Amino acid sequence: MSALSELYQEIEHCQLCDLARHRTRVVPGEGAEEADLLFIGEAPGRHEDQQGRPFVGSAGHFLEELLASIELSREVVYIANVVKCRPPGNRDPLPAEILACRKWLDRQIELIRPKMVVTLGRYSMTRFFPGESIGRVHGTARKRDDIIYYAMYHPAAALHQQSLRRVIEADMLKIPQILAQAERVSEAKSQAEQLNMF
Ligand code: URA
Repeated sequence: MSALSELYQEIEHCQLCDLARHRTRVVPGEGAEEADLLFIGEAPGRHEDQQGRPFVGSAGHFLEELLASIELSREVVYIANVVKCRPPGNRDPLPAEILACRKWLDRQIELIRPKMVVTLGRYSMTRFFPGESIGRVHGTARKRDDIIYYAMYHPAAALHQQSLRRVIEADMLKIPQILAQAERVSEAKSQAEQLNMF
């Protein structure tokens, strides 16, 4: 059994916050265990809670379209959420719930070791771009500890506000270039390191 599957079993039994009492199923996340790209949304909704899978409702369909626009599918990336259980009535997750769930997301990042983390929406952005606003930071990338963090609006935002659709589509289209550029930089760095050995 992979370390990620073992982690899912731990998450399934999690009782660290009150959301455990309301959930039908835990939604740990899914995708390629060695994905270059890790997408992090907010929290499961009704469909996700029923199926135990992230982004399977209308926001998920749009996310799949966005992935297709850069020739990817959900099977080759990894998709997770800040909070692994559905907040009742789809309310926003509370700070204490986000904090209680934080260790699961940290372990996922450690195990997957993605090249790039894409935050979807305000709640996951706050985790990696503290003090920033989504309006300012979306479509921009930062590198920390060898991981690129890239902020996007939540796909559901486009379903509520049509004008954001183009913005989200344009932000998604920047991802391949950012990844390719980071790969070139790290190749150049490892060549320089090899030269320094002699
Ligand atoms: N919205 C999210 O943030 N996550 C899901 O899994 C579904 C909808």
